[in-house]
Amino acid sequence: MTNRHASSRASSRKGSQKYNYKEQPLREVVSLRFRQITPSATVSLNNKLSELKEKGEDVISFAVGEPDSTTPEEIINFAAEKAREGKTHYTASSGISELRQKVALKYSSMTGKEISEKNVIVTPAKFALNMAVQAVIEQGDNVLIQDPSFVSYPEIIKIAGGKPRYFPSTDSGSPDIEEMKEMIDERTKMIVINSPSNPHGWVASSSDLKGLADVATDSNLFVLSDEIYEHIIYEGSHISILSMPGMEGRTFVVNGFSKSHAMTGWRIGYLISPSEFAGYIDSYQQHTITCAPSISQYAALKAIEETAFPENLRRTFQRRRDLLHSILAGSDGIEFRKPSGTFYAFPKLTNGMSGEEFSSGLLEQKKVLVTPGSGFGPSGKNRIRLSFALSDNDLEEGARRIVDFLK
Ligand code: PMP
Repeated sequence: MTNRHASSRASSRKGSQKYNYKEQPLREVVSLRFRQITPSATVSLNNKLSELKEKGEDVISFAVGEPDSTTPEEIINFAAEKAREGKTHYTASSGISELRQKVALKYSSMTGKEISEKNVIVTPAKFALNMAVQAVIEQGDNVLIQDPSFVSYPEIIKIAGGKPRYFPSTDSGSPDIEEMKEMIDERTKMIVINSPSNPHGWVASSSDLKGLADVATDSNLFVLSDEIYEHIIYEGSHISILSMPGMEGRTFVVNGFSKSHAMTGWRIGYLISPSEFAGYIDSYQQHTITCAPSISQYAALKAIEETAFPENLRRTFQRRRDLLHSILAGSDGIEFRKPSGTFYAFPKLTNGMSGEEFSSGLLEQKKVLVTPGSGFGPSGKNRIRLSFALSDNDLEEGARRIVDFLK
């Protein structure tokens, strides 16, 4: 132990803060950093669903955050083959070179920017979000996130010591750039964007992205761009904000294979970082998860070449989106707008119910699970999130139960 550590231990022992483990309830010794984490509304609901299904309840769930299909056979076979060949060991901490090169090539041609394998680290997407935030945020820094947005962003920011600040969206789901500008102060360091967006289904236009990029460059902010729903778009097309002028050097891109190739269980994705961050991020990975799962990395190597599957998935989701819309759009008490991307809709309740009241009443009376909107930001209070990643039959039956409940 160094002298510095020895003296700080000694002074804390002398102080009045000393814990008496016999008298103090255990939760009070859990760190403040951990106590401030809110459980994930979406993961918790899925845990609840498993519990109900185990009890044999006939529950239809619109709460699923993943495609209902299994990973394509050729990806599974390729990964199994690699496992049998002995690719079951640690890989380089930043990931296998072939995959990093393919990601670099994909994003170089998508954005016109020079991205090398060195900028890419292979890691699960949610961990990529964590690493990017940890790399930039100091205690007390502000991070702007869109209202509504993915439930994990505020918690990831809080874990890093930062303060999440919601900026509003316009009716179409685009960021309200003028309001966002008003919120920027000397502690604002990063903007998180997610297009296509969970839960709203908004897909950024090039003018949305130009507006965001101008704010980032004018105020010298980093941007974390979560592009995990890249392939699931019905209107518009995917543009990465990294392609905008001035965004190199300040953009972190997160993407992965969970949603596009039905690979949530493989825990595989990637992070593209500005060059000066990449080495530090690699060190962080070395001391946390070491490397992404080796077999999953080979599966991803196959998946990145596989374009027919995501396109079929997209078409299936589009059909289900339209089916859901045809059943719910005419109902009183709910305002259902077709999302432009993702497999989520985020309808507004117009019958005075909160998302929580609706969700618990619906589960109790109709055995249908939906996600209350409040976990996605203040604007979600009177909304629910409906995932349409479920079979056509379940979707139709579940939507009819929702219509009955609304009566
Ligand atoms: N970002 C968003 C917007 C998501 O919806 C999800 C998954 N629900 C993730 C990131 C995390 O993806 P993964 O499971 O591949 O880590």
